[in-house]
Amino acid sequence: MTAATERTSDLVPLSERLLYLRVLRAVMAASTVLDAAILPHLLRRSFVFVSCAALGYLILSWGMEGVWRLMHRRGLWLFGALLLIDGLFLAGATYLCGGSTSPVRYLVLVYLTAVTLLGSYRTGLKIALWQSLMQLSVFYAQKSGILERFGNSAASDSEWYRLVAFVFALWALTLTTASLAAVNERELRRRRFELEQLAQMGRDLEDANDPLSAGDVLLEALTDTFGFRRMALFEVIDDSPRMLTARGLLDAVVADFGLGDKSVLRVANDRRETLLVAEVDESVDPWLAAIMPDARNLIIVPLVADGVVGVLVAETGERSGARIERRVIATTERYAGHAALAIRNANLLARVQQMAVTDGLTQLSNRRAFDRSLDRELTRAARTDGRLSVVLLDIDHFKQLNDNHGHVVGDAVLRQIAHELQLCGREYDTIARYGGEEFAAVLPGCSSGLALQVAERLRVAVQDAPSEVKVTASCGVATYPYDGIDVSGLLSAADRALYTSKRSGRNTVRSAEQARVAEVPAAG
Ligand code: GH3
Ligand code: MG
Ligand code: MG
Repeated sequence: MTAATERTSDLVPLSERLLYLRVLRAVMAASTVLDAAILPHLLRRSFVFVSCAALGYLILSWGMEGVWRLMHRRGLWLFGALLLIDGLFLAGATYLCGGSTSPVRYLVLVYLTAVTLLGSYRTGLKIALWQSLMQLSVFYAQKSGILERFGNSAASDSEWYRLVAFVFALWALTLTTASLAAVNERELRRRRFELEQLAQMGRDLEDANDPLSAGDVLLEALTDTFGFRRMALFEVIDDSPRMLTARGLLDAVVADFGLGDKSVLRVANDRRETLLVAEVDESVDPWLAAIMPDARNLIIVPLVADGVVGVLVAETGERSGARIERRVIATTERYAGHAALAIRNANLLARVQQMAVTDGLTQLSNRRAFDRSLDRELTRAARTDGRLSVVLLDIDHFKQLNDNHGHVVGDAVLRQIAHELQLCGREYDTIARYGGEEFAAVLPGCSSGLALQVAERLRVAVQDAPSEVKVTASCGVATYPYDGIDVSGLLSAADRALYTSKRSGRNTVRSAEQARVAEVPAAG
């Protein structure tokens, strides 16, 4: 025990170790007294003398420990001195109780085992050295006659041989205990490190709101824990893998990303169990061999949360032919399990967010997404002095269609029309179901003339849609800033243009400007 203050890396808290030592000292003192009582003929001084020595030792050691506590565990020397006093007591007690023939000598072995286990490898060796010195010192003191006051037996040759054998046994015991304790401690420390890594990963996953970030957290944790050389995380979608994220891979150009029946990814995905692969079979997984050339000793772990949300391919970096440790596999699986839950949650969140902006019947953007897009684009147009047009499109006589063919057919026609309208939009246009059988488009950067052309394309798309019942549509177009400078102004202008189209006989397109011209005679 070399540190006086509690270290976070200590496996057993210091206070607990001190308690064990205190109990051990009491046991040593009590055993000495018991030995003196049972084997009085071996004693070199009276029973009372031995008992007083044991009691004095106990009082001294506990007293010193008390002082050390009062010093707030600062006087490390005091703590070390206690260990030295233990050595003095044991050597003295052995001598008083009969020397090499006394069972008290074996307390030295018990004490050394305890101190080595409770302290460190180095503490064990130091104390073994001290105990050996004490035993030898007592022997030579006895031989030189210094100890005659404490008993009358001089050291014999056989005593010397027994002492040598004992010191040899003492060192063998200490070295064995220290080595085996170090092995156990290393394993315990490694497990604790892995648990801490897992806890850290859990915290990092809380901040990962999308599958990519969750995948990155997993790969980082595995790199930190095991130092895996190369890794890739895939989603298996239909028959092909999509790489979410990777570490240490070659930027290979892969022509065929298809998964054969025997592909390790497919097998891990279908069986939902971890595979250990000695090396990638190029004929079965050519693309994996291309991005991870000469990969050896791979762990393929499916990420399972309800279904399989991903498959991890990790190269352990073990030399060829070496077995991958069971511990490594189990921990990797545990990490993957946590990441799987995070990816599943991220996928669910993405799906819910998608549903919140999608119209259920037509799968177009819904009114909420349209409003948001119009607001955003209007702000941008105002900031950049740009143009922005809005098209409102209303199916002609749709009520009649419902009445004649039923709402189921009406719904099918709406879906078909929505599909055709979607194909007409540019990448940055938002085409939405505005409500009922009305559709709307936000066309960023479109001037009035261009917007009229787009609206005409939409009208023709409805007219030509391969739907069960042929329908037509009327459109109204309004452009920022001429027809309105805010959302409601622009939509009202488009609405008026739409009704002008309706009044003009339907199946046509009108701009807000045309609507104003048409309204003038009516107003006048
Ligand atoms: P107009 O040419 O003047 O637009 O005539 P219209 O019959 O289309 O009139 P209006 O636009 O007012 O009619 C809306 C009709 O659209 C009423 C309703 O029956 C139908 N409709 C609205 N939403 C749905 C829907 O989700 N499914 C079906 N099948 N019909 C819908
Ligand atoms: Mg309508
Ligand atoms: Mg209508």
